[in-house]
Amino acid sequence: GCRAQDVVAALRAAADTVAEHRVELTDLDRPIGDADHGENLNRGFTALVASLDGGAPETPGAVLKLAATTLISKVGGAAGPLYGTAFLRAATAVGQASELNSAAVVTALRAGLDGVVARGKAEVGDATMVDALAPAVEAAQAATSDGIAAVLAAAADAADAGADSTIPLVARKGRASYLGQRSAGHLDPGARSTALLLRTFAASAG
Ligand code: ADP
Ligand code: MG
Ligand code: MG
Repeated sequence: GCRAQDVVAALRAAADTVAEHRVELTDLDRPIGDADHGENLNRGFTALVASLDGGAPETPGAVLKLAATTLISKVGGAAGPLYGTAFLRAATAVGQASELNSAAVVTALRAGLDGVVARGKAEVGDATMVDALAPAVEAAQAATSDGIAAVLAAAADAADAGADSTIPLVARKGRASYLGQRSAGHLDPGARSTALLLRTFAASAG
């Protein structure tokens, strides 16, 4: 099962991934946005690691809630409230449990997706992080009986494909939508960061 210390390890690994991909994510945001997505996420995850260094909460849900409040207050832009809401809904979904099984991990992922959709109103095909997260949740659900590592690996694979699917799309939400047809032909930065985060969680669980 997945305990608080496992969630902490996954979030620390996510911070490393975001730092490694900071320039890539910002470069993706340059032609269709304002060239800050990597900086935004890196600021948030750096703050999260600093907070975890000061002592981590004792349940998976409490760790997820700390991630949510930190990302909401530090990331800013569109992505801060969206990722923050995802982690907050995931935290609420797992409640006070001390250990999560694969079904709980799937429930948390789906709650996160529901939070992003409630907050941002994007549908699959709008060229946002939802294009990575929605298929990830479906793939995760289908892998529930195979355990947490398999759930997260399936989610990561689906998120990679979902992120790539944004390339030909015309963006209908967020800054990229201001470009209209000219937004087509670009990988959405938020879809890319969602895929990177899920891949990192999968590696951390495996
Ligand atoms: P900002 O656009 O405010 O500078 P970021 O660059 O950090 O914020 O994040 C941009 C990403 O946020 C986009 O690539 C997209 O994936 C995501 N995004 C923006 N608006 C929405 C929305 N309404 N629903 C879902 N995702 C969105
Ligand atoms: Mg931006
Ligand atoms: Mg911005």
